[in-house]
Amino acid sequence: MSFYVLDVIGFVDNTNALVAKELALMPITYNEDIKTWFFKAPYEWEQLNEKSKKYNEYIVYRDGLEWESGALDYDCVKEVLNKHLIDAKTIFIRHFKVGDWLASYGFKNFCDVSQDPDYNDYNIPICKMTPCLKHTHSILMSCATRNIKKILFNVMLHCQ
Ligand SMILES: [Zn+2]
Repeated sequence: MSFYVLDVIGFVDNTNALVAKELALMPITYNEDIKTWFFKAPYEWEQLNEKSKKYNEYIVYRDGLEWESGALDYDCVKEVLNKHLIDAKTIFIRHFKVGDWLASYGFKNFCDVSQDPDYNDYNIPICKMTPCLKHTHSILMSCATRNIKKILFNVMLHCQ
């Protein structure tokens, strides 16, 4: 039984649900590092409606991600989650959309640290860490890999 920190960033679909592009995950143990996966788009850009295209274009600009980028087929999401979270007691996250996304794969055992009134978001030094290398030319990037330590920081703060 283990505790995990997880974050996902990506795009939205026509129902405004999260479409994962970067998934980052770290078990809270003494000898494990952050693991990161990049998923291909689940379908063609043309299948998005105008509203979601517009929002996703902003994500391209802001986070430096491309709809078409990624290494693994989107169908692998479920397999990756099941494989790596099999013994999860609690999965710490930082956004309700990530919670909805996890729930859509059957995971209900998450704790959204951003719901805490003392949640620290962007004004902590850990947020100035270098993001992963997938966010080229972006302006206000959100990097799932970098967010892991921000979530962990909040978990630790909560326990003080
Ligand atoms: Zn990243």
